[in-house]
Order: sequence, then C-alpha cells, then structure tokens
Amino acid sequence: MIFTPIASSSAGNAYLVTEGESCLLLEAGVSFRRIQQATDYQAQRLEGCLITHEHKDHSGHVKKLLENGVRVYASPGTARTLEEQEIIPFPLAEGKNMSPPFRLGPFTVVAFRTFHDAAEPVGYLIAAGGEQLIFATDTVGLAYRFPGVTILAVEANYDDEILSRNTRLPESRIKRVRNSHMEINRLCQWLEGLDLSHCKELWLLHLSDASSNESRFIDLAERAVGPGIAVRAAGKG
Ligand SMILES: [Zn+2]
Repeated sequence: MIFTPIASSSAGNAYLVTEGESCLLLEAGVSFRRIQQATDYQAQRLEGCLITHEHKDHSGHVKKLLENGVRVYASPGTARTLEEQEIIPFPLAEGKNMSPPFRLGPFTVVAFRTFHDAAEPVGYLIAAGGEQLIFATDTVGLAYRFPGVTILAVEANYDDEILSRNTRLPESRIKRVRNSHMEINRLCQWLEGLDLSHCKELWLLHLSDASSNESRFIDLAERAVGPGIAVRAAGKG
C-alpha cells in the first residue's frame, strides 16, 4: 500500500492510497483536474473517495467528483451537512466509536470518530495487502491505539509555544485552533504510547502556515517513534 499526499494545508487536502491497480482518494479539497493528474488520468482506478468532515478544505470539490462518477463516502452527519444526495453514508451508530468494516475494491475500511468542530468527523483505518494505514486529520487528539499499523498519516497542525507567541491572531482564532486541531507535543505523546513494531512510515499532515516548524516537527516525531520509521511532512501541494 502506498500513501501519496496530493495537497495538505488549510487551502486544500487530498491524498491517494494505492494498492496494485486500485486507488482510494482521501478528501476532496483539490480540483478534479489535480486528482486526474495524480492518478495519471485514470480516475476510473479510484474505488471511491473518503471524506473526514464537511469543512471546505476537505470537501470543496465533492460535487465535481460525483459528476465524474467517483463514489464518495462519509459519516451520516458529514453526508447530511454536505447536502449532496449521492454521497454514500456508512453506518456509524450513535454511541459507537467505529463503523463496521466495509469493502472498497481491495481496501477494507473502518471509520473512527475524531474530535473537531464539525458535524460528525472521522478518521479512517484502511487495510490492504497485509498493511494497515491510519489516516487522521483535523482532530484535537486520538483515543485509539491501532495495533499492527504499518503507515501512519496524522495531523501535526501547530506548536502551542509558536501559537501563543502569535500576536496577530485574534484570541478567538487561537482558542479555535486549540479546540479543534492536533498539537505536535500531544501527537508525540500519543505516538509514544503505540506499538509501532510493524510501522514503516509516518506522515505529518496539515501543518499550519503560521504556527508550525516543519524540521522541528520532524525531529520531535522521529524521537517519539524511534529509529527505523521514515518520518515525512506532507507538502502543501
Ligand atoms: Zn476542519
């Protein structure tokens, strides 16, 4: 399984997961043209698109995807908020933290709840070809451990020290970031508690323009996961 970021920022998010001839698109925050480019103009290889939540930088181009025949999946709350009849909601029962597994081509997908200021935000556990990918962005934290993970792709949005020094940001905005996005030290704490014996790569996603430091984030994450795991930051695209 190969994880490839197409774009990762508050201007637009999209990621490709490839297994053999099949692909899955994660998020629809960039134009269909860019998705075509990323799939070598073979968008028919897409088994579907999974959306984490309704914010425009993750879902702004859903309509175009649907018009081009791509099946789009989201939580019932996200689907309702996006008001696109054709979005396929997967079952995520009230009071349950995870959906039952569902199959998209060679991929087995489980959605899990995340913590963000959206209707019903989720992350995804995606399994294929003996590998397991965790995809989680726009979440204050993560409540699950995911044993056996081989690829981690997780938000590393801001450093609280840099954020609190930023005098140009209104207090309400700072508060919103703290209540809806992943802080680098919180991410590292979570990483330190994981069994990473099968993990080979960690992608840091959705780094904030104003409140992050890419090389320092990579250093901190490398220290948290230990040797043998490639740590990279996804580009803005
Ligand atoms: Zn968001």
